[in-house]
Amino acid sequence: MVPHPHTYSILQIAGMIPHIERSLVDGSARVADLLYDSRKIGSAAQGLFFALSGRRDGHRFIPEAYRAGVRNFVVAAGKVATVDYPEANFIVVADTLGALQALAASHRSRYRYPVIGITGSNGKTIVKEWLAQLMAPEYRVLKSPKSYNSQIGVALSLWQLDDAHDLAIIEAGISKPGEMEALRRMIAPDVAVLTNIGPAHDDGFASRAEKVDEKLALFEGVGTAVYPPGYLDGRPLPDVGYRLTWGEGDCMLRLLGHTVADGRTTIRAQYRGVPHQIVIPFTDAAARENALCCWAVLVAMGYAHETIAERMGALQPAEMRLEMKSGIRGCTIIDDSYSNDLYSLSIALEFLRQQRQQPKATVILSDIPAAVNEAEVYEKVASLLAGSGIGRLIAVGPALARQRHRFDFVQLETFPDTQAFLDAFPRLAFEHEIVLIKGGRQFAFERISALLTAKSHDTVLEINLSAVEHNLNQYRQRLPKGVKLMAMVKAFSYGSGSYEVANLLQFNGVDYLTVAFADEGVELRQAGIRLPIMVMSPRQASLGVLVQYALEPEIYGFGVLDECVRVLEARGVTDYPVHIKVDTGMHRLGFAVDDAARLLDRLRRTRAISVKSVFSHLSAAGNPEHDAFTRIQLKRFETFASALVDGLGHPVLRHIANTAGIGRWPEAYLDMVRLGIGLYGVDDAAGDGLNLLKTSVLKTVVSQLHEVKAGESVGYNRHGISGVDRIVATVGIGYADGYDRRFGNGNGTMQINGQVARTVGDICMDMTMLDVTGLRVTEGDEVEVFGDVAALAGSIGTIAYELLTGISQRVKRVYYY
Ligand SMILES: *Cc1c(COP(=O)(O)O)cnc(C)c1O
Repeated sequence: MVPHPHTYSILQIAGMIPHIERSLVDGSARVADLLYDSRKIGSAAQGLFFALSGRRDGHRFIPEAYRAGVRNFVVAAGKVATVDYPEANFIVVADTLGALQALAASHRSRYRYPVIGITGSNGKTIVKEWLAQLMAPEYRVLKSPKSYNSQIGVALSLWQLDDAHDLAIIEAGISKPGEMEALRRMIAPDVAVLTNIGPAHDDGFASRAEKVDEKLALFEGVGTAVYPPGYLDGRPLPDVGYRLTWGEGDCMLRLLGHTVADGRTTIRAQYRGVPHQIVIPFTDAAARENALCCWAVLVAMGYAHETIAERMGALQPAEMRLEMKSGIRGCTIIDDSYSNDLYSLSIALEFLRQQRQQPKATVILSDIPAAVNEAEVYEKVASLLAGSGIGRLIAVGPALARQRHRFDFVQLETFPDTQAFLDAFPRLAFEHEIVLIKGGRQFAFERISALLTAKSHDTVLEINLSAVEHNLNQYRQRLPKGVKLMAMVKAFSYGSGSYEVANLLQFNGVDYLTVAFADEGVELRQAGIRLPIMVMSPRQASLGVLVQYALEPEIYGFGVLDECVRVLEARGVTDYPVHIKVDTGMHRLGFAVDDAARLLDRLRRTRAISVKSVFSHLSAAGNPEHDAFTRIQLKRFETFASALVDGLGHPVLRHIANTAGIGRWPEAYLDMVRLGIGLYGVDDAAGDGLNLLKTSVLKTVVSQLHEVKAGESVGYNRHGISGVDRIVATVGIGYADGYDRRFGNGNGTMQINGQVARTVGDICMDMTMLDVTGLRVTEGDEVEVFGDVAALAGSIGTIAYELLTGISQRVKRVYYY
């Protein structure tokens, strides 16, 4: 039997990474999985945990990993008392990330088949996916999953190399100088590919030249270099064996021109003076460039132009998103129906565990294509599934059927193919469960996804959960160690949906959540949120509910205090956590600053409550004009909080900064900050230090196009009159969806196929008309309603907060990661 390519003994591993010392209680322990995040330990048995020191020091999570069953660790010198973990093996190194990379490099060096490394500013992922499609008939391709192209991601990708594949395509992404060298040493590409280089130099680079040089570091010493010289700004390529240049002008694969017809593009190019052409089923400029890049790589790999032309015509879009949507009969669907391999399966299962808002979980899984050593691959699949706590597995494909004995820990149904599954669909009774659909492209699982997904309305709000996570981390980086973070998820997480965002925040370890009303908190509890939750407006009638669901009230005056104490005492509850709000100048809710003594007196007379935190709210933290007032508020808060904390004599968290406060007032961080709109990508006071991503896009579609003659009006009240002939598009969103009436009559714009269209006439309840004269638009096209919310809000005299929270609940939310 061929040994499992992913299994090394810990003793072998120690030989693969430079280390200072090691303490191995069992040198023969097998290692198969690399772990670096204690939240993502699916199966611990054969795990090797790297304590990486990123934003959070991985060494802090060793106890948790040990409790979860991990017995092999790579740690930095002086960080861990290994005696505390009598059953574990430790390898002690100078630099844990370096050790992970050394291990990846050593593993990679055992494989002789070609490895293609791809870098560039844009298009890396598409080029990778397309190359995999184009070469699929000849090669069993391993590609790095999604966009795992970072210092850690590349190492984990390379760890997937095994005998089941005979070609690997790995993405390399960098954000600052010096990083590519580390990636190149790991990947050691046989073929290095550059897609393009964006015009601006990124934050991390001093100049464009520096950025170009950094990308070119991937090419150092490679056998074959495939690149577009037009992007190099004259910077020299390092020494390489063979070069294949592509692009306009003097290139080996030289672009001659292109024409677009019927949704397809014909690209003409000449190679060594001989003209050729390909047709691709896409029409955008990025697709043309990516296709030309793939063409050049295939030529370098020895493919004939005829073969290339034939395969280009059948290219499919590289679907790269893990989508979460609501499904039929109360199900939640995670749709990943375009690829299936061990690594992307582990990512999808991780997402499933993170978003466990339903008690029941089902996975619909296809065979893993190109599994050479079937027993080993499915043993691995079984261990991934076992670690993910699912209740039901629906397996589609002959290999899974043969391997069915491995899945005795779940309720199992097997089907020979997708059609058999579809035939049995009614009997499978999907209801109130979370369903992961994970299948290789050839299994056409999109048919399953269509059956399971509730009929989608045409108007949706798409929420990018990775962007929310990214924004959270941007703020966290700014906070000193020890400052806690409370995330505001009131008003359905500023319109972005409640438990999906809360799940993500919980998974990412924020300290507190805050909602406005008790029922929002109840919904989060019912969806399995365990974090402490503060409720800002506890109503008298809901105090019992608070206790029942362990929700912590904000106490903003003697009235609420007395009611709360009465309810708690009646139930015999003691030490119930509450939060004291003081009014330092907002004049909305809160005790007066000089109420401190009286409040203390009242608090001393009851054992029902225990003050967890004291806080206030800044009225104008983002507005420099009022900085003097903000300082007064901080001072007042300090006076009140110290009186209270001193008087209580036990630790109490103090907090006052909202998003703008985090951006502009480091002295206001205190013990905790309350992050709201910044999470959702909007922060006017963010300044340069923060790179926030847009988290949601509101979309609809064109329902109908009209030719409207000069002099004709459009819509109610005949406002939209013009002196010229126009083409008007009716789109499926109106003020009842949250598209403000003030956007009417040309005040609002939407985007269709990248083109800007203005509103015409009054906004209707469910529809809006746009002037699309001269634009490329057809019925059924997708329309982006809100992109840059802050700018749009300004144009009608409101703020992003109102637009975001005003998107009505009838607009379906689609989440992706
Ligand atoms: C909404 C709210 C926040 C968050 O404000 P942002 O400006 O969205 O960061 C913080 N504190 C309180 C009391 C709030 O009501």
